[in-house]
Amino acid sequence: MNPDFRPSDLPAYVGSPEKLDADLRGLLALALLAGEKGGCRRADLARHFELPKEPPCSACDACAEADDWLEAHIVSPARPIG
Ligand SMILES: [Zn+2]
Repeated sequence: MNPDFRPSDLPAYVGSPEKLDADLRGLLALALLAGEKGGCRRADLARHFELPKEPPCSACDACAEADDWLEAHIVSPARPIG
């Protein structure tokens, strides 16, 4: 923690009802985005956060089937564990 921090240095909108409302709306938009089964998750997050456009990642649950991804990226043990 910064020992020089003083709450009075924060902008006036921090802690305001307007900021709380905006934060909750942003959280709701992100939760709705996470619940959607649509396009590429990476591309959707980039768009949500207004980052440069991302091409489909070919790795998220919308781009690839989990079993196919695991088979391509995870080495299975030679014999079952346990
Ligand atoms: Zn993807």
